[in-house]
Amino acid sequence: MRLKFTGTGTSVGVPQIGCGCPTCVSADPRDRRRRCGAYVVTDAAHPYLGRKISFLIDTPPEMREACIEYGIDKVDAVVLTHSHMDHVAGFDDVRRFNTLNGGAPMRCYASAETVESMRRIFPYVGEHRNELGLYRPMIRFVSDDAFEIGSVKLRRLPVEHGFPCCGYLLEDSVQGFRVGYVSDCHDLPAQTVDALEGVDVMILNCLRERPHPTHLNLERSLAYLERIRPEKAYLIHMCHDLRHEDWLARLPAGIEPAYDGLEIAP
Ligand SMILES: [Zn+2]
Ligand SMILES: [Zn+2]
Ligand SMILES: [Zn+2]
Repeated sequence: MRLKFTGTGTSVGVPQIGCGCPTCVSADPRDRRRRCGAYVVTDAAHPYLGRKISFLIDTPPEMREACIEYGIDKVDAVVLTHSHMDHVAGFDDVRRFNTLNGGAPMRCYASAETVESMRRIFPYVGEHRNELGLYRPMIRFVSDDAFEIGSVKLRRLPVEHGFPCCGYLLEDSVQGFRVGYVSDCHDLPAQTVDALEGVDVMILNCLRERPHPTHLNLERSLAYLERIRPEKAYLIHMCHDLRHEDWLARLPAGIEPAYDGLEIAP
């Protein structure tokens, strides 16, 4: 499997509207952080389209832009972490993938609480074409805690974010590559840390250096990474307090800030 970061920024994005700080005016493209999301291409071939099965993690506000920039035109499923707007505001654009997939409903994996909240935020979404011609996302919600998309097995992991939220463990059954993805939390329950222990790559939120009530700051992210002990770690959901170069200088070996467009593979 391959995972591309389509966004790595916090809820307001970087640059922030109306901010002139060094990060927000930086010329380094790695300092432009869309809201968090990822695109995963599995190693399993689609049964009749003859291409690799792939999925999106979250549908942030800039999902459409990211798909256009990175040439993402094949999506077979959507996996949601939670229904905060910075992770779901681009959900309406899933309808374009319904069209590209020949009108089939898209499977959307999310916890029961997130599904309930998605139905409230997007009440017009349905499983099939609307008879009056409304061009809407056609979605089949699935709330299983563990599921497979192509060659990747996913397991939903509880996290503490002051709001119903989860992370995921992705395991590629072909390559044995294991990736943890936790975009939003201020605490990880012991069972989640246990499930993530020793992953090849841990993708973990790290808002900034100062503490925050619902997000991990640098000190807490590093403390969790010490317990998870991944081969390699990437930080996401970063705000504008630090530039990419500042993060690189501050982080221990094996831990790096992710940036939009970065791709990871075994
Ligand atoms: Zn978020
Ligand atoms: Zn700024
Ligand atoms: Zn959130």
